[in-house]
Amino acid sequence: MTTREGTIRRIAGPLIEADGLPGVSMFEVCKIGKEQLIGEVNRVVGDRAYIQCYETTEGLKPGEPVLATGTSLDVELGPGLMGAIYDGIQRPLPIIKAKTGDFITRGVTASPLPEDKPWAFKPTAEKGKTVTGGDVLGTVQETGVFLHKILVPPGTQGKLTDIAKADEYTIRDTIAHVQTPTGKTPLTLTQRWPVRIGRPFKTKTGTEVPLCSGQRVIDAFFPVAKGGTGAIPGGFGTGKTVTLHQLAKWSDTDCVVYVGCGERGNEMTAVLEEFPELKDPRSGRSLMERTTLIANTSNMPVAAREASIYTGITIAEYLRDQGYDVSLMADSTSRWAEALREISGRLEEMPSEEGYPAYLASRLAEFYERAGRVVALGSPERMGSITVTGAVSPPGGDMSEPVTQSTLRITKVFWALSKEFASRRFFPAIDYLQSYSLYKDALAGWYRENLGPDWPELTDEAISVLQRDKELREIVQLVGPDALPERERAVLEAARMIKEDFLMQSALHPIDTYCPQVKYYWMLKIIMMFWEKMQGAIDSGVPLRQIIGLPVVNKIARMKVQAQDKPKVLEKYFKDLEKEMHSEFGALSAG
Ligand code: ADP
Ligand code: MG
Repeated sequence: MTTREGTIRRIAGPLIEADGLPGVSMFEVCKIGKEQLIGEVNRVVGDRAYIQCYETTEGLKPGEPVLATGTSLDVELGPGLMGAIYDGIQRPLPIIKAKTGDFITRGVTASPLPEDKPWAFKPTAEKGKTVTGGDVLGTVQETGVFLHKILVPPGTQGKLTDIAKADEYTIRDTIAHVQTPTGKTPLTLTQRWPVRIGRPFKTKTGTEVPLCSGQRVIDAFFPVAKGGTGAIPGGFGTGKTVTLHQLAKWSDTDCVVYVGCGERGNEMTAVLEEFPELKDPRSGRSLMERTTLIANTSNMPVAAREASIYTGITIAEYLRDQGYDVSLMADSTSRWAEALREISGRLEEMPSEEGYPAYLASRLAEFYERAGRVVALGSPERMGSITVTGAVSPPGGDMSEPVTQSTLRITKVFWALSKEFASRRFFPAIDYLQSYSLYKDALAGWYRENLGPDWPELTDEAISVLQRDKELREIVQLVGPDALPERERAVLEAARMIKEDFLMQSALHPIDTYCPQVKYYWMLKIIMMFWEKMQGAIDSGVPLRQIIGLPVVNKIARMKVQAQDKPKVLEKYFKDLEKEMHSEFGALSAG
């Protein structure tokens, strides 16, 4: 499509009305005013377009030109994504800042990927073969931990007439040609893709592999599958950001896309400072070697915030298509929804609940539906996944509001943050009686095989102790703890252990910030073993006082801070603990 030029008729905040654009289409990118600010069409009436502008519109005047470009908002995908920090429309923030200073001037552009950097490309496809979208042409070792697979763009098909030899190339060099019916198509190390359209794949597969986050309450009680979706709603200060950071830092995914969306700038600063310092527990390398950050903080234009989650998920899809497990975090989807509401208001659309547009729920669903575990297009055959977790910030913590409610209808895991837990500094403040995961049954098989055959039962049993604890505590409030028989007071004791010695996990503790699978398996096993032995002892007449005075009780409390860098040592520690427990209980019954 060719470019056409119209003129600005009216300016309303981030929204521009432009006339004289026949044939302009939805989501077409326009360049607005003398400075050529980037915008995207979001309503068309005849020759008039309503355009959301990704930069501040102050100082624009009616009568200035508007160029419709004939293209849609897209991202450039290729080597250079790792460690990159972008705004909502993939402008590289560090480069833009270097060009213009702290206050980003308008109309500044820069290539999202470094244009001069040479990358060592290793071809793997053979000249003369027929290739199709998704086929791997070769690889670039982009960082110490990330092998970038160079793919034939979806939709391109034909004979590979030539392919570059192993050498260094920039993203602007041609590395291959494909003979298509319309001519020879040159390929480079990069490709573009429109952000509002999901990238194609062969098939979606099941979600029966867990994402291991190293956060006990999540992994044990409310796990998310690789390719799954989770929401973490909570009032201010309950731990949404900390939890998403923990997921980004410790999850066993190959790549991370972190979208900071409308939150305060200092939270993004924390990410920028912490992530490069963090060493992956598996590879020992910096997290930034496999992370892309999208930052559209509260002080940046609201329309770009609306676009940021699409930019993020498109990058995630491209990584998935290479055969990787990707995790995407969005903090916060409520701020995204507010951007949607503001633009909808400017368009004078009919507002629905609390002023949000009627399409809020469908837009949210479209976003979360781009999560999933798939067989990627092309050969060699690859599986990849995107796990999406979104923070939701309901005003005043009231979860009945539209963004929380619409989100919970879509996502399959609900981590309910509790103000009360947070105020008691019970962290993570995930309410274990309110939260749920709809993946638990699908993941049970994986856990039995890889973690322990008894794991699903251990976690179910632990949750039922916690439920029983809640009921008993209601009774205690009425009649006091002394009125309970020993056997029921033992439930309170077991629940205390599960809560304090297992569920509480400080993100700030040098060891406990991350808990490896084998460790949490043993921790819960030991606690549930204690619970069983405690019941047996009480039934045979041992006073509860004596049981909770056993030395092993203190040891259980210290399990979480046990050094975990050597799995063999860790396993021996737990086996010894198990023996100690046996002999201490043995002595009790005998006495
Ligand atoms: P939100 O994003 O919901 O407003 P934050 O994630 O910023 O809240 O958390 C607020 C504070 O709560 C943190 O600064 C930290 O002190 C505490 N906190 C939250 N989660 C944890 C955790 N898992 N471990 C330790 N402290 C936590
Ligand atoms: Mg936050």
